[in-house]
Amino acid sequence: MTRRIFVTTALPYANGAFHIGHIMEYIQADIWVRFQRMQGHEVHFVGADDAHGAPIMIAAEKAGKTPQQFVGEIAAGRKKYLDGFHIKFDNWHSTDSPENTELSQDIYKRLKAAGLVYTKPVEQYYDPLKGMFLADRYIKGECPKCGAKDQYGDACEVCSSVYAPTELKNPYSTLSGATPELRTSDHYFFKLSDPKCVAFLKEWLDAPGRLQPQVANKAREWLEGKGDQALGDWDISRDAPYFGIPIPDAPGKYFYVWLDAPIGYLASFKNYCATAGIDFEKFLADQNTEQIHFIGKDIIYFHTLFWPAMLKFAGAPYKAPNHVYVHGFIQLGGEKMSKSRGTGIDPLRYLAIGMNPEWLRYYIAAKLTGGVEDIEFNPDDFLARVNSDLIGKYVNIASRCAGFLIKRFQGQVRLTDRYSDPVLRDLEAASTEIAEFYDSREFGKALRRIMDLADEVNGYIDREKPWELAKKAENSDALLRACSIGLEAFRILTLYLKPVLPQIAITVEKLLNIEPLTWSHVRDGLSPDRLISPYAHLMTRVEEKQLDALFDMPSESKPVPPSTPHPASPAKEEKAASAAASNTIAIDDFAKVDLRIAKITNAEHVEGADKLLKLSLDVGALGARQVFAGIKSAYDPATLIGKLTVVVANLAPRKMKFGLSEGMVLAASGETPGIFLLSPDSGAQPGMKVK
Ligand SMILES: [Zn+2]
Repeated sequence: MTRRIFVTTALPYANGAFHIGHIMEYIQADIWVRFQRMQGHEVHFVGADDAHGAPIMIAAEKAGKTPQQFVGEIAAGRKKYLDGFHIKFDNWHSTDSPENTELSQDIYKRLKAAGLVYTKPVEQYYDPLKGMFLADRYIKGECPKCGAKDQYGDACEVCSSVYAPTELKNPYSTLSGATPELRTSDHYFFKLSDPKCVAFLKEWLDAPGRLQPQVANKAREWLEGKGDQALGDWDISRDAPYFGIPIPDAPGKYFYVWLDAPIGYLASFKNYCATAGIDFEKFLADQNTEQIHFIGKDIIYFHTLFWPAMLKFAGAPYKAPNHVYVHGFIQLGGEKMSKSRGTGIDPLRYLAIGMNPEWLRYYIAAKLTGGVEDIEFNPDDFLARVNSDLIGKYVNIASRCAGFLIKRFQGQVRLTDRYSDPVLRDLEAASTEIAEFYDSREFGKALRRIMDLADEVNGYIDREKPWELAKKAENSDALLRACSIGLEAFRILTLYLKPVLPQIAITVEKLLNIEPLTWSHVRDGLSPDRLISPYAHLMTRVEEKQLDALFDMPSESKPVPPSTPHPASPAKEEKAASAAASNTIAIDDFAKVDLRIAKITNAEHVEGADKLLKLSLDVGALGARQVFAGIKSAYDPATLIGKLTVVVANLAPRKMKFGLSEGMVLAASGETPGIFLLSPDSGAQPGMKVK
């Protein structure tokens, strides 16, 4: 029976670019969707940006933009990630959209009519300067237990105590610095504790196969919690000013971002239906339609309690999800990672340095299971696995067979005795098992099975030895048969790998002159005497240096010459800038640099040096220093004498051709000409620390 499936991934918060965790989730869902389509099922796959809430409102204000502009710019950056990794959503939308406003307000009205919404006064801190209520994360103060300063409103990072923001001593708003006032406002609540909600959720969670066992157990714990842990009602409103969807008939009240975010799944689908000619309500209400969400383990609570209850009690056409498939996080591990200065994999950097997106798809798929365990990205393992599996086992089969067919048989294949060797029978027989692995998201098991089959095919080629057969004219038929079977095996392996490697599958389909592979093509075989296209290079190996570039490994010696305080070339500068974008340092790292105010007591040309000036500096208590600086093109030495500037005082002295350089003065430069020495505001004295 043909399945009708509506699939989503979790909506990313629109305050930043995608990171590797997003890409992993999208790859997981994309593989599953591609597999279902190869089975002939009808699948609609949509995503959207989660655009609302106080953090975006505040970030936009800081950036001097409207929230709409802010999220619009984030949204514009999504496509290059998705296209880059062959992640093929049918639609990408936003929760800040007319569809989402309409659907959120509709669902709310239905829940209210069902008696599941009530209001209750809530006392909360209010920032009188900003004129807004403050979420816990915007309040800081002294820990009520240990007195540590600058602790957040919910927990102390020093003594790990947990408390309410109202318990903080000397609280202040992190937005304005003002002392917050306690004020009361009416909030709207969704009555999740209502017996009919609880009864429904219990039944929903218990449905066999609906959720992974670990996920269902976790949700049941929350559902059945007692005392402090009892399932509470859900505060679904926020007071103006708020970037969100207005609550109908409630002036100044907005839906809390977590109410309208999952409704964004439906909003994106509705937006897509309008262009795809699908009746949104009819599709949604159809009992045979499956609604499936792929999410991370950090948002199980919302997706297995609030979300199904909201949909259920809103009534048709809405219905609770059929499945919520949860995955773990991606961790970075291995020796290379611990040496690296990087904090993670930047997906765009991965693409920019020319790494093949299908390597990453394959590696992630090989690590994924149907469970919620974290997976580890280990660079050495990545290199070994991609090179051994994809190049050594899979691509190798094509290069061992296609060449002979093209050179010796004008590209024709002959498969008259398809089952003369068990190798193709074994390949075909694995079809159901591999399909079951894909369907249950056991991608790692699927790929292991496929690679075992690739080993078998390579064994076949080793036994047949086409390179030996090719030496004697009388073995021509045997050569044609062996290479034809090898290439047919390669076709079937390509079919099995197609959900993971969609781009390579297209190349192979062209190479073999066959129509796009679907699962039912397993037994079709290459037609006898089909002409194959000249063999194209399918995939290259991963190289160590690419991984070094990905993680920006520190090189063994990278001295910073005091003579060139500015980057030597724009290319170098660009590299430095992109490295800086992906790396952050702790305040302690910065504190290692001893920056001081220095007075230039003398400046002179250096004989034989094109770029350098020799500076004599007075660094107060640190005494006099001599520094060579690459600023000759920009400054007449006479104009520098008496000026104040900033010097790196604890840079190791460097012996140069012209003498010893005992520090580095700081100067700015960019793509446009000019070098600009830094100078402090008036009043600074030589020797003062810059921090
Ligand atoms: Zn404390």
